[in-house]
Amino acid sequence: MFSYRHAFHAGNHADVLKHTVLVAMLQHLLQKDTALTVFDTHAGAGLYRLDGDYAETSGEAANGFMRLVKELENGTPATSTEAPATKGSAAGKVKTPAKPTLDDLAPALKAYLEMVASFNNKGSHKVYPGSPFIIQRLLGDRDKLKLFEIHPTDIKTLAANIAQLEAGRQVAVLREDGFEGIKKFLPPPARRALVFCDPSYEIKNDYLRVVAMVADSLTRFATGTYAVWYPIIPRPEAHDVPRKLKTLATKAGRSWLNATLTVKNSKLLSDEAGDVKRPGLPASGMFIINPPHTLKAALQLALPQLVAVLGQDQHATFSVDAGG
Ligand code: SAM
Repeated sequence: MFSYRHAFHAGNHADVLKHTVLVAMLQHLLQKDTALTVFDTHAGAGLYRLDGDYAETSGEAANGFMRLVKELENGTPATSTEAPATKGSAAGKVKTPAKPTLDDLAPALKAYLEMVASFNNKGSHKVYPGSPFIIQRLLGDRDKLKLFEIHPTDIKTLAANIAQLEAGRQVAVLREDGFEGIKKFLPPPARRALVFCDPSYEIKNDYLRVVAMVADSLTRFATGTYAVWYPIIPRPEAHDVPRKLKTLATKAGRSWLNATLTVKNSKLLSDEAGDVKRPGLPASGMFIINPPHTLKAALQLALPQLVAVLGQDQHATFSVDAGG
């Protein structure tokens, strides 16, 4: 039985990164005339309450989405006007990135915050949309969304949440293994697709299965856009994910982009009593194969601002690398 429930983590710094990237990708992909099919291989429950028991227990949104909202509400003035970089730290050798204000907020962060705001009454931040609802909100009539989820409780919540949209055949909720289930849908009818893959990595095998899924999918449909979230933690199999995905993209002759956001030190810390404190997730990344050509520039503006706001110590940093 899986114990991972995304409700404990909704709106954390990893969600801010992955959902900012998701919105930026979709805004570009949905500009074309041909229909897009979006696959969300690990969908979660779809909608979360930031004032609910789960979120309040973990408080992870306080250092993610809510921290961004509060910083902008406080209106802290910018402290640096440096041009966009590809790497940078919150308090490091490069230069302290500027804290954004509403006036100079990167367009990708603005679009992300507007997306979350569209699920809430003005000035309220109680509801946090998961990837299924973010995607569905941006789709046009001709586009399709296929959601995979296997947790027995979350699949029911997801199905009930999606039913309220009355989206009909546009959205399919599938109680299937996303790594396997996607195979039968590739290539999609109009030959345009975004595959969004956001596993919990609760099972060590997920690290291998992500790479195997992308490898198999590229043989079926090489021109699709594949976006994989991964944690950056001191485990070799986690480090292997972007390395192996880059090798796959390069061998297939496809372009790629790897964006990372680190908010704090990853080392275990001891408190004054000598007890070891678990640091929580320090960093994560999004690896995209066949990214929209606009994504790199968008993230080079957004990620320094996220470092400035979400960075918790001098280890906070970001990177945007691309090739192919
Ligand atoms: N993508 C969601 C979002 O951004 O709102 C969050 C997804 S959460 C990180 C991962 C989800 O994948 C969990 O709800 C978990 O139950 C589900 N899951 C785990 N293994 C799966 C599998 N093999 N196929 C489909 N879903 C799976």
